[in-house]
This record gives sequence, C-alpha cells and structure tokens, in this order.
Amino acid sequence: MNTEAEYDVVIIGGGLAGLSLSIQLNNAGYKVAVLEKDQYPRHKVCGEYVSMESMAFLERTGVAISLMKLPVINTLQLSDVKGRVLNTPLPQGGFGISRHKLDATLAMIAQRKGVALFTNTKAEDVRFEDDVFSVKAGTKVFTAKVVCGCWGKRSNVDNKLERNFIKEQKKALNNFIGVKYHIKHPWPEHLIALHNFKGGYCGISRVENDTCCLCYMTTAKNLQVSGNDIKQMEQKILMQNPYLKEIFGHAVFMYEQPLTISQISFQAKEAVQGNVLMLGDAAGMISPLCGNGMSMAFHSSVMAYEAIDSFLKQRTTREQMEGQYAERWHKQFSKRLGMGRFIQSRFGKEKSTSFFLGAMKLFPFLQKPMIKAATGQTF
Ligand SMILES: Cc1cc2nc3c(=O)[nH]c(=O)nc-3n(C[C@H](O)[C@H](O)[C@H](O)COP(=O)(O)OP(=O)(O)OC[C@H]3O[C@@H](n4cnc5c(N)ncnc54)[C@H](O)[C@@H]3O)c2cc1C
Repeated sequence: MNTEAEYDVVIIGGGLAGLSLSIQLNNAGYKVAVLEKDQYPRHKVCGEYVSMESMAFLERTGVAISLMKLPVINTLQLSDVKGRVLNTPLPQGGFGISRHKLDATLAMIAQRKGVALFTNTKAEDVRFEDDVFSVKAGTKVFTAKVVCGCWGKRSNVDNKLERNFIKEQKKALNNFIGVKYHIKHPWPEHLIALHNFKGGYCGISRVENDTCCLCYMTTAKNLQVSGNDIKQMEQKILMQNPYLKEIFGHAVFMYEQPLTISQISFQAKEAVQGNVLMLGDAAGMISPLCGNGMSMAFHSSVMAYEAIDSFLKQRTTREQMEGQYAERWHKQFSKRLGMGRFIQSRFGKEKSTSFFLGAMKLFPFLQKPMIKAATGQTF
C-alpha cells in the first residue's frame, strides 16, 4: 500500500459537486484531493439543462458561461402520452451545456489552481479512526481531516457505508433507468420539452454546437417488457407520443449506442453518514423533471465549503460542522425534494399526466407556483 501525503480534505467523486467544492477549498488555501473513477472529458446521462440559479456561482468559480454562447432556455413544453400539449414560460429559465464540456471545464480549472485530481482512481473504502480519515483506492491510501462524499446517485461506497437507501426493496420511486443521446434536430433554442409516454418521460433541449440533448427516464419494467431491447422500447412505447415519434423519426443520432444508467432512486438519504459530508446526488436526488439537480449539487458545495472552512479554522467542532451542514441541507432542499417526488409520481402515467396537464391549462395561475416550488434561488 502507498500512503499519500495527508490532505485537509479528500473528495470522493469528481462530478459537479466534488469539483466545485475542490475549487472553493483550494481558493481558501486548503490542501485538497479529488478521487475520480473516470477521466475527462466524458459523457454522462443528464438532461443538460442548468437552471439559471447556478449562473452567478459558475462565473465566480471560473466557468465563463456568458462567453460560451450557450442556448438560453425560457419556455417549457409538456405533452401527455397522447400528445396533448401545454407551453408555459419558465420564470427563471436556464441554459444548455453538455456534461462533456461542463465537467471537463471544472476539472481543468481545479487542476490549474492546484487541486490534486486523481483520475481513474476509484475509492473503495472510507474509515474514520482517531479523528483521521483514510480512503482506500487501489494500492493507494489517502488520509485527511475531512472526507466528502460526492460520488453521485449510487456508488460502491454507499454499500461500504451500509446506507439505508441501498437496502430498500425495489419499488416505484427507486427503480428507474436513464437513457441519453446527442442528436442533430432543428429544435428551437429557447424551448425545453418534456414529453410523456407510458411509464416515463423524455426531455429535449439544445446544448452547445447546434446539438440537442435527448434524454429519458423510464421504469426498469418498461425495458423488461421490451425484451431488454432499447430500440424496441422506443418504438413500441415512447413513439406512442406523436411528438416523440417525430423527434426519433427525424433526428440524426450522434452516437451509435445511447448512454444508459440503471437503479435510479429518489429515496431520501442522509446528508452526513459515517462522519462523511454528502453532497449533490449522494445526499439526495431530485427528479430530473425539476431540472435542477446540477444546481443542487453546486449549491450543496457552497454549504459544505462554509461548514468545512469553519471546522478547519477551529471555529466549530466536528460534531457542530456535521450537525450544522445537515440542518442547512435539509432547510434548503427538503421541500424541493418533496415537490420533486410528488411531480415524479404523477408523470408517465396516462391518466394522472393528462389530469395534471388539464389542471395546469384550466388554472394557469398554478403553473408558476408549481415550477417555483421545485426550483431554487441564486446562491
Ligand atoms: C436522466 C437524468 C436526467 C437529468 N437531467 C438533469 C437536467 O437536465 N438538469 C439538472 O440540473 N439535473 C439533471 N439531472 C440530475 C443531475 O445529473 C445530477 O443531479 C448531478 O449530476 C449531480 O451531481 P453530483 O456531483 O452529485 O454527481 P455526479 O455528477 O454524478 O458525479 C459523481 C462522480 O463521482 C464519481 N464516482 C462515483 N463513485 C466513485 C468512487 N467510488 N470513487 C471515485 N469516483 C467515484 C463518478 O464517476 C462521477 O464523476 C438528471 C439526472 C438524470 C438521471
């Protein structure tokens, strides 16, 4: 075993939460390591719509969003399984950027600033003894005063920590699959659509380079009943919605095979477990319907940074750091996650989606508060 130099903070997972936290800690003069199991750039299953609440934070972190000429998105289109449609303005709006570009840009900034970024390095175990953490990754052991879990929605480390959501039986809110393509399609720049089909919904919106992100979530059952064949599922189930039929029928697909993920869970999780501060999806995943999981990952990095900074400056004890972070996390996100779960449970079901769209059309004054409850403020 090779023991690495001791760090102030070791961050497991170099996605959005992990990289943005590493940059803030590094700016404050702390010695930080990020362990990332993959390398950059890389594609990721994600709708790639970033809500505007993150714009100022990203600019502050060094990602020059305003210079990137990204599509600005201000209108939401919803359709039910039969293709009945509702268009509504997005009060805050957002912009489109691929994860290929966003994660790699953050990784480059972190590395340039001096964060020790270990790619192709998968954390296998975390232990906390005598007030010091050790993180095992292959033949290396990293030691640190603080460890942050930024490993996303589900990881091998969740098993090691015996987290409750891992032990749950597979049921309605914890067994979805995600599928993503980049496509060429004459899709309007300002519009994001969520088209429902039986057992799921499919989003489409623009990212950089005249490309569209086409990404859907559905139940694992839909894939099973289609003989585990994605193409068959798309033809038989998704294309029942006339909007999806048009998109799938006319788009030019940019990769041969789609990217896929499975076992997506919206179950509640702990914000701190085994003395590890959890950020982003590792602390709780919001339904992609709300379009702000990425912003929650960034926002949680700001809260974690402030808690860790106080602890490392010995203004708070470890117990206070953990308690204050968990409390702030719940105050900031619990309501939003609840609304996300409510919306998620209504979508992709023929009757409830149609009812939901009908109610939104009939009572347009409901649209704004519903959208607002699922989104957040600038941080
Ligand atoms: C289908 C779908 C569509 C979505 N669409 C949107 C959208 O349009 N807008 C939006 O805002 N959000 C969307 N989201 C949510 C968004 O993708 C997540 O909320 C966001 O990526 C969370 O960031 P994170 O940093 O917590 O995790 P991630 O970005 O997933 O990063 C986790 C990182 O940890 C690494 N890792 C995991 N385990 C280990 C380990 N043991 N050791 C080292 N590294 C490890 C992974 O390789 C990864 O790089 C969507 C999600 C899904 C599933």
